[in-house]
Amino acid sequence: MKIVRTIACKLAPTDEQRTELDATCAAFAAACTFIADVARQEHTTNKVKVQHACYAEVRRRFGLSANLAIRAIARVCAARKVPAKMHATFAPTSVDYDARIFSFRAWDWTCSLTLLHTRARLATVLGDSQKARLQGQTPTSATLVKRRDGLYLLHVQITALPPMPRTPTATLGVDLGLRRVAVDSDAQRYEATEVQRLRAHYPKVRRSLQRKGTQEAKRLLKRLSGREARHMRAIHHTIAKRLVAQARTTRRQIALEDLTGIRQRTKVRKPQRYQHQSWAFYQLRQFVAYKAQDAGVPVVLVDPAYTSKTCHLCQHRGHRSGLTFSCTRCSVVMDADWNAAMNIAAAGAVVTRLEDASHESVKAAAL
Ligand SMILES: [Zn+2]
Repeated sequence: MKIVRTIACKLAPTDEQRTELDATCAAFAAACTFIADVARQEHTTNKVKVQHACYAEVRRRFGLSANLAIRAIARVCAARKVPAKMHATFAPTSVDYDARIFSFRAWDWTCSLTLLHTRARLATVLGDSQKARLQGQTPTSATLVKRRDGLYLLHVQITALPPMPRTPTATLGVDLGLRRVAVDSDAQRYEATEVQRLRAHYPKVRRSLQRKGTQEAKRLLKRLSGREARHMRAIHHTIAKRLVAQARTTRRQIALEDLTGIRQRTKVRKPQRYQHQSWAFYQLRQFVAYKAQDAGVPVVLVDPAYTSKTCHLCQHRGHRSGLTFSCTRCSVVMDADWNAAMNIAAAGAVVTRLEDASHESVKAAAL
């Protein structure tokens, strides 16, 4: 299965190009608004029908190239198929591109875009990791985006085959929490005071999410903007990267608690912890999942029912108080999140029957 990744490339247009980019965004948005009216009148979201009804007029009226006109029609039809976007208005902040009107060149890191009056070659400002991901790729689609601060970005979509997941030899359990962002079964803590501050900053957002679940989380993540959300996103990226690197270098799979469907549970074992489950967790989990996929690290989800209250040594129920877990049977006293991470790791190993799998691979190696 191919995976699609979007790489946001910062553009460095000349003043002249910037004017032309602005004009293109404005014409594209105006065309979309016009097309939406036509689609409404024709009572259709079918691209072919809409194209038949207004293609020539769109080109004449807004001066778009043939393929930009097609892209505008495609955008409107796609938007009108989603009930929530049915009556969407189109702001002059983005333009869709396909392979005929866009190309990327890796030797000088420039891209070529069809604009309103011309085809322009634009310089980009890329980091090393972006260059590494774009190298050798032939992207077939992209979205030109104008940010609120006036910066132009080209969101380039690349498709690639993910590396074959490597057969893990053990499991790295990861407990995601509020006080510490993540604690793994190696007792590594991933803390970030900024994250806590930011998470505390959105109590309304959290409450709203708790009522509605992850679909809402997706929308909220989209809506959150500004410096703080970007900052937080960067921290989540860093933590996800470190977790995946740790699992990869030690040939382990990653186990996380399966929090989907938690709201349907009749008995929630850890109400205090789930209270804080939020869009931030959702974002961090998404980052771990896709970075793991890119790195060939398998991710397993485990039942969260007993992970925080069970002693990882003797499986007896223990007490959790603050950051400390204490077992009443074997009298171990340890970091509560670390104990949870150890339980998650053990459950993850059971999920994949890791013992069987590693036996198989030992047998295969012996043959
Ligand atoms: Zn114990």
